[in-house]
Amino acid sequence: MKKSRPGRPVPEILARLDKKYPKVRCALYHRNAWELLIATILSAQCTDVRVNLVTPELFAHFPTPAAMAKASLPELEALVRTTGFFRNKAKNIRGASLKLVEEFSSKVPAELDQLLTLPGVARKTANVVLGSWYGISVGVVVDTHVARISHRLGLTRATAPPKIEQDLMKILPPDHWIDFSHQIIHFGRETCIARKPRCATCPLETLCSSPDKTWSSH
Ligand code: SF4
Repeated sequence: MKKSRPGRPVPEILARLDKKYPKVRCALYHRNAWELLIATILSAQCTDVRVNLVTPELFAHFPTPAAMAKASLPELEALVRTTGFFRNKAKNIRGASLKLVEEFSSKVPAELDQLLTLPGVARKTANVVLGSWYGISVGVVVDTHVARISHRLGLTRATAPPKIEQDLMKILPPDHWIDFSHQIIHFGRETCIARKPRCATCPLETLCSSPDKTWSSH
């Protein structure tokens, strides 16, 4: 069995993240659970910044699940084109909206199993909606930032997101599952960026022994 890298000072990592990002929020623009669901589906393989450029116009055209369920696919495709994989995404957001109308009285369910029945919704999207809108912790959102930084901090050795999520759920207290992901996503954009992490100004530097470091105090 592989050994973990030494030092997984989880409470100290969490304390420093809480200090740096005390009032962290989901970075995706949304005003209700349905908008968050749609924005999260669109965020696959795309930046939140790009999604936030697209969704105000999308929701102005189609302000409810019922309106989006009746949209034409070419119209939706044109509106979400710049988020990438737009044909699939257009199909999924229309399909998810239709299913909400037909089976959930146009309300986004607050249960993982039900959310997972919606087109385009896998565990990550369900976790975002449950955590950020309903405040229900059923897991940890693992996106590219969370995966990369969990590695750098020695919190996991796994590469597959479901396995990374399991590892994080074992070592993070449940009351941090939601905030941790949001904090790490901000941290990954500002400091622990993929190509050249800004280690010299990183608040976690003394806790990090990543081989990717660009500067080290120890
Ligand atoms: S020290 Fe560098 S690699 Fe480690 S968490 Fe900070 S920015 Fe990332």
